[in-house]
Amino acid sequence: SPYLLEVRELKKHYTSKSGLLTRKKPVVKAVDGISLNIRKGEILGLVGESGCGKSTLGRSILRLIEPTSGNIVFEGQDILAYGKEEKRMMRKELQIIFQDSGAALNPRMTVGEIIGAPLDIYGLAQGEAKERRINELLELVGLNKDYVNRFPHEFSGGQKQRIGIARALAVEPKLIVCDEPVSALDVSVRAQVLNLMKELKEKLGLTYLFISHDLSVVHHLCDRVAVMYLGKIVEITDRNELYGNPLHPYTKALLSAIPNPNPEISRERIVLEGDVPSPSNPPAGCSFHTRCPYRMDKCSVEVPILLQTQGNHSVSCHLYNDEH
Ligand code: SF4
Ligand code: MG
Repeated sequence: SPYLLEVRELKKHYTSKSGLLTRKKPVVKAVDGISLNIRKGEILGLVGESGCGKSTLGRSILRLIEPTSGNIVFEGQDILAYGKEEKRMMRKELQIIFQDSGAALNPRMTVGEIIGAPLDIYGLAQGEAKERRINELLELVGLNKDYVNRFPHEFSGGQKQRIGIARALAVEPKLIVCDEPVSALDVSVRAQVLNLMKELKEKLGLTYLFISHDLSVVHHLCDRVAVMYLGKIVEITDRNELYGNPLHPYTKALLSAIPNPNPEISRERIVLEGDVPSPSNPPAGCSFHTRCPYRMDKCSVEVPILLQTQGNHSVSCHLYNDEH
């Protein structure tokens, strides 16, 4: 298989905590049958409004959350079949970087201890070799090696995120799930951290699943982009194709909310009304129909499926499914 990661029909359904007094608790379909592949060396963007299930999907891929059903195949191995020890070793290959890295860093540990912890856990280096490796990791993420004895509170948000990246890199992972890694940062440092991540990807041969609610962040970074709505992928294609020829009305709406990098291509303006409906009570048929300006009668009845339209472009919408 040419793919590093293959996700097939992945579902994460859970019983809602709300409605405790009612006899039947609502089932939240946070991830509802997602299939996607990621090639080695690729950056796949995963975009959608908050609450659409992006983070649940990202965490499920690392088994930080156990999926309800489906398959996750990493380097040809079904990682959902892994027992405890295999799962522990899997975390060496698959890492995650969170949005709020500041909160994720132990305030009582020095930077050296934070970055060195994964080296201890996996027995990767000790003594002088460990010190050298910690220095190397600090240098790799653009931090001064004199910082090694300082504590997290002494650093800015951007620096903390660099520490979080260094910690993730310590185990030499192959795939990193990046969950909104720059969303909490000042606009002025976002580009720096994104550039660093891109550089590291090239230098270390990494592969990213890059989660963001912001299509303009993903634009500069990703090779392909998947758009998610209420637990499902509604469109997936190459970066330039998505920005130049978006097909799904939801993608068009997300794009019309960000500045157009190429004003020669005029964009359809779609302003989204309302919020994402509750995933515990999603609309029937196409779950986007309550907000879609193109909805037809069948849209509230028939669930559209993700179908390839042309080349590398797949979309889940009755406007296009009719052509088949
Ligand atoms: Fe809109 Fe219908 Fe397409 Fe859903 S299937 S996005 S409601 S046109
Ligand atoms: Mg999230």
